Amino acid sequence: AHIPKRTKASFSSSSSSSKALNEVIDLDHGDPTMYEKYWQQMGEKTTVVIPGWKFISYFSDVKKLCWFLEPDFENAVIRLHKLVGNAVTEDRHIVVGTGSTQLFQAVLYAVSPPNASEPMNVVSAAPFYSSYPLITDFLKSGLYKWAGDARKFKKDKPYVELVTSPNNPDGLSREAVVNQNQGILIHDLAYYWPQYTPISSPANYDIMLFTVSKSTGHAGTRLGWALVKDKEIAKKMTEFIVLSTIGVSKESQLRAAKILQVLSDTHEYNGNFKESEPFFDYSYNLMARRWKQLRNAVSKSKLFSLPEFSHGKCAFSSRTFASQPAFAWLKCEGEIEDCESFLRDHKIITRSGKHFGESSKYVRISVLPRDEIFDQFTERLCSINSL
Ligand code: PMP
Repeated sequence: AHIPKRTKASFSSSSSSSKALNEVIDLDHGDPTMYEKYWQQMGEKTTVVIPGWKFISYFSDVKKLCWFLEPDFENAVIRLHKLVGNAVTEDRHIVVGTGSTQLFQAVLYAVSPPNASEPMNVVSAAPFYSSYPLITDFLKSGLYKWAGDARKFKKDKPYVELVTSPNNPDGLSREAVVNQNQGILIHDLAYYWPQYTPISSPANYDIMLFTVSKSTGHAGTRLGWALVKDKEIAKKMTEFIVLSTIGVSKESQLRAAKILQVLSDTHEYNGNFKESEPFFDYSYNLMARRWKQLRNAVSKSKLFSLPEFSHGKCAFSSRTFASQPAFAWLKCEGEIEDCESFLRDHKIITRSGKHFGESSKYVRISVLPRDEIFDQFTERLCSINSL
């Protein structure tokens, strides 16, 4: 999401630690390559073979409201939510999308009144996910328009509020902030998984968005799903996807179904999976190590600070822990006004706070790259601190 230009240097290979001090480290986007190693260790267990005659049809299940949703994928999604306990799936329609990026657009289309005299306002509390304003406005729709920071929204007009919890970029748990009753809430729960934050209870909202990108790490599969209470909204979301892409790749759904099934298996079965570390244990431990490493590097400095998170008990893992988000919302302290360019001078590519509706004293840094890159990054951060 929000894929920016690549610097040439970020493609060159590296291994030695002298290079670690010189090479461009690109932590701009949240590319979840951290998960590669786990799935590599699973070997053939997640391999999917698709014969040439399969998936010729546009249709998956014509009796279903979302007729291009593969039953295997739907079942795998429901099973995973029941295992983790992070969302209510009963009395919900599931709509599959090409990433939750497509589903976000489908919701905007579905909830905007078709004949209103002016576009519906779309808001989210700053700092908000930088793609929301771009996606909302790029086609200059007559149905909806970006209206900025939800905390500043005072118009007595219909609105859509995006509630991202845990939030991208700052990792905080959130609730709706606009204090009016004519709004529609969209809950983007891309990061409501137990490797990032304690699961307090099953989310039970009207419109909830999830994605494989940040749960299993399969961003390239481009699959997301929406849990939608209202039948008419689910129908219109389906209509949006039909009009834009006539459905969602079945190959992707089959592969994602397999990955999600195996993920659940690593927690629920012994048998074949006796030797495999359960996915959410592995990913939780990895995130815990990374945040420790990062906080260590930051604590040595007077240049930077990170948000603090309160502890909570996770109903899924029974662990009590503080959030360890997919992104670090780093603040440059003191005189540094433009944190992004300060870090760029040290060959660390990040995304400025200004893209998130915040000050440029902040940057967002991905905590999800491969081990080697993350190690180089924290090493580099220490070296900046000691200047
Ligand atoms: N919502 C949020 C809050 C995200 O951070 C992202 C990914 N960066 C998305 C949605 C989009 O995810 P997808 O890859 O499923 O389109």
